Amino acid sequence: MISVRDDLAELEGYHSPQVTVDVRLNTNESPYPPPAAWREAFLEELATVPFHRYPDRGAGALRTAIGELHGVGPEQVLAGNGSNEVIQALCLAYGGPGRSVAVFEPTYALHSHIPRITGTGVAAGERGDDFTLDPTEVARVVGEAQPAITFLCSPNNPTGVIDGPEVIEAALAAAPGLVVVDEAYGQFTSTSALSLVADDRPLVVTRTFSKTWSMAACRLGYLIAPAGIVAGAERAVLPYHLDAATQIAGRLALRFTAEMEARVTSLVAERERLAGALAALPVDTWPSGANFVLFRPRNVDGPTVWKGLVERSVLVRDCSSWPRLEGCLRVTVGTPAEDDAFLSALREVLA
Ligand code: PMP
Repeated sequence: MISVRDDLAELEGYHSPQVTVDVRLNTNESPYPPPAAWREAFLEELATVPFHRYPDRGAGALRTAIGELHGVGPEQVLAGNGSNEVIQALCLAYGGPGRSVAVFEPTYALHSHIPRITGTGVAAGERGDDFTLDPTEVARVVGEAQPAITFLCSPNNPTGVIDGPEVIEAALAAAPGLVVVDEAYGQFTSTSALSLVADDRPLVVTRTFSKTWSMAACRLGYLIAPAGIVAGAERAVLPYHLDAATQIAGRLALRFTAEMEARVTSLVAERERLAGALAALPVDTWPSGANFVLFRPRNVDGPTVWKGLVERSVLVRDCSSWPRLEGCLRVTVGTPAEDDAFLSALREVLA
């Protein structure tokens, strides 16, 4: 029997264990469903879809609506099945054998996993002890590796730390290729690289509907970039990759911007409450600009805490075996009731 490519066989898959629990705070989704009015509009429009026909191949209406949100034309937008697919399209189009990407660990695992799947090399730099990224480290790694794509992630998953403008500037100054700023959690903070996107800069910003827009089930993400870069990435997506239902879902969601912003505001306030409560416990935490908080229990090891929480029907992400994250766990900001359940379970486990 044929075996898979040697380089894939060596790769570990990307897993987030899904355990049946009452309180799921492990994958950074929104704890709130989309507005009821969105659901109604979505189901109504879904009923009109000619299901025997392929969807709009270029997702024109959706791209126009996303572009309007950011003040750019549809030619500066590429939508995909989650921002992961958008990242994959970038790696397929701009990476590949003989090319590399640069990442700064610890960061989102798929920024190196997707390049490897596409046969692209990975050069890894390091974030500092406090998980901030030093512009000189960016210049060093990018200067040495000459990567086709430099990935930044702000706020960074799983640390929550924000990369300041000086980091993005350092990457743009040194990078021979694209600089991709993954802003999957961008709405939970006030800094964004979106205003820096310009025709004469190889800057790409990716975003997702999975978090703020409460639409993780739909799989919709996008990038904003100069039109030429978008056209390049588009070469790597499959025909009709984005189905009609997802296109409708995303377009209609953009009518509910005010509701989404209200959710973000309340999630940010809840994050601060959660971080404050964690600060009173024997755990180390890092300031988060996202909808999750990374924490490291001081006296109990990570897997024991994770297991103790699962036994109390609370699921968080165990990051303790990831490089540089010994002993760390990541908790998604949930509803106040979910967060209280997490906090009281954690207090018991740490006692
Ligand atoms: N980027 C980051 C930093 C993420 O944390 C995630 C989701 N875990 C994604 C991208 C992918 O999100 P999606 O494919 O759901 O848009």
